[in-house]
Amino acid sequence: MRKKYLMTPGPTPVPSEVLLAQARPMIHHRTPDFNAVVRECVEGLKYVFQTQASDVLLFASSGTGAMESAVVNCFSAGDKVLVCYNGKFGQRMDQISKAYGLETTVLEYGWQQVVDPADIEKFLANNPDTKGVIVTQSETSSGVLNNVEAVGKIVKNYPDCVLIVDSITGIGAVDCKTDEWGLDVVMTGSQKGLMLPPGLAAVTVSPKAWAAYERSTLPKFYFDWKKYLKNLANDTTPFTPAVSLMIGLAEALKLMREEGIENTIARHARLAEATRAGCEALGLELFAPAEGRGNAVTPVWVPEGIDGKQLVSIMKNKHGVTIAGGQDDYTGRIFRVGHLGYFGDFDIITTLAALEMTLLELGYDFEAGSGIKAAELVLMKG
Ligand SMILES: *Cc1c(COP(=O)(O)O)cnc(C)c1O
Repeated sequence: MRKKYLMTPGPTPVPSEVLLAQARPMIHHRTPDFNAVVRECVEGLKYVFQTQASDVLLFASSGTGAMESAVVNCFSAGDKVLVCYNGKFGQRMDQISKAYGLETTVLEYGWQQVVDPADIEKFLANNPDTKGVIVTQSETSSGVLNNVEAVGKIVKNYPDCVLIVDSITGIGAVDCKTDEWGLDVVMTGSQKGLMLPPGLAAVTVSPKAWAAYERSTLPKFYFDWKKYLKNLANDTTPFTPAVSLMIGLAEALKLMREEGIENTIARHARLAEATRAGCEALGLELFAPAEGRGNAVTPVWVPEGIDGKQLVSIMKNKHGVTIAGGQDDYTGRIFRVGHLGYFGDFDIITTLAALEMTLLELGYDFEAGSGIKAAELVLMKG
């Protein structure tokens, strides 16, 4: 037997309280018992999304379902939208927008660059008829954190333009003030910061996004936001919900409320800092730029002369620690340590220890223990 550790930015580990809640016998979804679960989920999600003004809708789908819902509910074919991206997930929003016949303009940045709000400001000034701006807050493929607060300040000045934010690995890991920052649609998925198995997605819908919904003529059925809103008035869902996942979500949200959202974010910041310090002490180079490092995942360059795929494979198969590799152009060239959701200090220490042992085996030259030591010093700061 080998004990296993899941250190990826989704799916993420699930606390035992949540696992046990999900193991309860099935209940019917058209019952007062389940109505109470719906209420708890929506109220708890409003707390973690930091919103009072927006509605929160839940779908039985992966995160991509929430992304597609944003496009079909806010726009009509031919609408001008600006898609800003610096990684694989942001690019997906462009693919979805194109699939639905939107007229998309892309602001494409390198994976090691931060989206520049000034570029968005310039674009909107020249194209005031733009109906939407789409940005990823925490880009999981690159670990880059984009400044959606600054983007919110810009888009606010355009009453018919909605700001859509993919915060799928942002929520619960970094600050995301939906109301205060003027974010019209914010998305997340269950298998990230919410500490659940995959299968649920959530979106927030602001009054401005509802106005866009009224103008939108794209076809929609399963993801039609109004169907969800109408049912929410009775604490229920239009279609059979993911009953067990929602029971688990209510439990996970209870844990998040107990910790307090500010503390949850601070814990993530601390674990991310310890991970970075540990890797840098080993002489490894961080991938994301200093001006935009998120708390959800730490991508690191694989050192010269080492095979990145082999590194990830030894970590998993020999040491039981699953981390993520690089995607697309960075396959085999970077590895990514997730620390999003149900993570504590010793998950980071374990991962760094496994990383050190793996690097020693691969012949990389460094002082054994130096990564763990650097991480400990960060964690001991409290
Ligand atoms: C995980 C993730 C998604 C959604 O992916 P699914 O596999 O559909 O859940 C979208 N955006 C980001 C930034 C993600 O990390």
